Amino acid sequence: MLEQAQRVLKDIFGYDSFRGRQGAIIERVASGGDALVLMPTGGGKSLCFQVPALLREGLAVVVSPLIALMDDQVATLEELGVAAAALNSTLSAEQQRDLAARIRRGEVKMLYLAPERLVQPRMLAFLQSLEIALFAIDEAHCVSQWGHDFRPEYLQLGQLAEMFPQVPRIALTATADKRTREEIVNRLHLQDAERFLSSFDRPNIFYRIVPKEQPRKQLQAFLNERRSDAGIVYCLSRKKVDEVAAFLCEQGFTALPYHAGLPNELRAYHQKRFLNEEGLIMVATIAFGMGIDKPNVRFVAHMDLPKSLEAYYQETGRAGRDGLPADAWMAYGLQDVLMLKQMLQNSEGDERHKRLEQHKLDAMLALCEETRCRRQTLLAYFDEDMPQPCGHCDNCVDGVQTWDATEPARQALSAIYRTGQRYGVGHLVDVLLGKDTEKVRSFGHQHLSVFGVGKARSEGEWRSLFRQLVARGLADIDLEGYGGLRLSDSCRPLLKGEVTLELRRDLKPQTTPKSSTSQASQLVRGEEREQWEALRALRRKLAEEHGVPPYVIFPDSTLLEMLRSQPGSMAEMAEVSGVGARKLERYGAAFLEVLGGGVEAPKVVADLRHELITLARAGMTPVQIAGQLQCTEKNVYTLLAEAIGKQQLSLEQALDLPEDLLGEIQDAFLDGEGELPPVAEVIPVFAGRVPEGVLYCVRAALESEFEM
Ligand code: ADP
Ligand code: ZN
Repeated sequence: MLEQAQRVLKDIFGYDSFRGRQGAIIERVASGGDALVLMPTGGGKSLCFQVPALLREGLAVVVSPLIALMDDQVATLEELGVAAAALNSTLSAEQQRDLAARIRRGEVKMLYLAPERLVQPRMLAFLQSLEIALFAIDEAHCVSQWGHDFRPEYLQLGQLAEMFPQVPRIALTATADKRTREEIVNRLHLQDAERFLSSFDRPNIFYRIVPKEQPRKQLQAFLNERRSDAGIVYCLSRKKVDEVAAFLCEQGFTALPYHAGLPNELRAYHQKRFLNEEGLIMVATIAFGMGIDKPNVRFVAHMDLPKSLEAYYQETGRAGRDGLPADAWMAYGLQDVLMLKQMLQNSEGDERHKRLEQHKLDAMLALCEETRCRRQTLLAYFDEDMPQPCGHCDNCVDGVQTWDATEPARQALSAIYRTGQRYGVGHLVDVLLGKDTEKVRSFGHQHLSVFGVGKARSEGEWRSLFRQLVARGLADIDLEGYGGLRLSDSCRPLLKGEVTLELRRDLKPQTTPKSSTSQASQLVRGEEREQWEALRALRRKLAEEHGVPPYVIFPDSTLLEMLRSQPGSMAEMAEVSGVGARKLERYGAAFLEVLGGGVEAPKVVADLRHELITLARAGMTPVQIAGQLQCTEKNVYTLLAEAIGKQQLSLEQALDLPEDLLGEIQDAFLDGEGELPPVAEVIPVFAGRVPEGVLYCVRAALESEFEM
């Protein structure tokens, strides 16, 4: 089974090996078992049902919540030569009838549909009249009533278990938490499903969180090192989205706004451009994201703090789905905390709910002020233990300087107390610095004992200190008042001198080592740029011709491998990860031409043999190979038979024969006694049914078998 799966992986998808637990999952589902798959974004969930779908008889039904997602996957499959279709509301009645007829004739292998479609009685009856290979339920966390993506129709998917008891079901999600997991099992009746839990680490993402000072300048500096990369910039409010997008455009970036306040068509248009064009920046509220399958999002930048680590993980997770280096960058400041606390306060819901949300925000703040490895902290929150620091986040790379802030923290707390616990950071800092402002004088704060005690430190240092006091819960924001700071109970031990306080020292943005900021980007080195752009241009052209996003033609990772390995022949091209038989045939020559800048040199026979073997291994049929090598089919069969005889190729690699036909041919050879009869004797039996060359290949395989 696994061997067959491996073959499909190479032939159809062009990949050499399974990632993580893909192999085990595929084996389980292909052999008829149920599975629950929890895998992070970019982990490769699609293959977990696409490969078993190809291994099993009948129609594979894939439930997916979003039309955009479906269309993307269908386009990708069609490019790979797999018969896939999406049934959704964008089809006319006639198109739907047409599709149903194709399905009935067995011409469709994978059918994508929305849950509400699937559970219609007519649809279920239709499916019951067919042979079904499997049900795949993508984004299975949509069944959870507690999550953000709850879709009531998902609840009805439980009935599949009773209606199709023989059909394996596989549910997939990138949502990690235990509660959601149990809900999926219960609601989808997956009690017998084997569970496949992967690590939720996203090793290719570089995490960086910087203190917010001049956020736009900081963002600009971050983006300047990533010209021509695609990415998302998240902002909390619509207004800010518009402003930041406009600012970036002024700075010469191609940036588009996206938020719920824009007309639907404009939003859809921006989303489409983001998917289809390269190097575009989407400035968006969190309304943008779910269903964005674009694999080559190179960065996600947060201009405002997300409200929980769950949200942070999910939003940053949209970067680097393709496994190539990507950045998660965030600027955060005290103002964010104030805003989020205010939103929380004004939100609906009972006290318990608010307390829960408060805890989530606290965990998010703790990550921002973390002095150890960010990744370790993030994964620990999801109950995953990472024994060593990751070496791939700002804290690991830059190191964090801490300092003993006990004394200044006491001064700051004292300033809060003595001014009556009602002023914001700006005024408190003025008091500590001993500034002679109108506000100071009108309240008589120049007479306080804390007035001017903090002159030795800069304003920035004081702001950083207040921010950290709030983040650690030592000071609190008075939301009923005007957002002034007040003391919280937990600051007592510090005030009484019972404990000390270590805080992180904020690095000045300009002193941050440049190398580490840029290390996660810059996929392509200077001297490779030109060819890289040429490859991308070709991809863009092909994508336009086919009406699909560029990454459907080839993902960046495949282009990058072409660039690095510089294939010089079709055979070498077939070795590139992501180049399956169909794409090799369609696009191989065009990309070779860009790489080599010319046509392949005439081949000597030895080359030809080598190339033929590689092409056969890559899953090309003899007819395709003949076209590729520009020789006759007969020659191809002769060379294939020769390679089989030398055991350089297996019969399965060379030919794609139905099993019973193969058995029949083998029987014909094995019928007599003693030696195998020559091919000529068998030819009449199969005349018109298979090319003669096939008989040569089968005989060669039998012969080599007997020699062993
Ligand atoms: P997910 O749905 O889990 O976010 P996808 O199924 O979209 O992830 O896969 C992410 C990317 O990884 C895709 O470009 C996919 O083609 C690629 N991929 C998946 N499995 C493999 C593999 N075994 N080898 C190489 N690339 C893979
Ligand atoms: Zn780290």
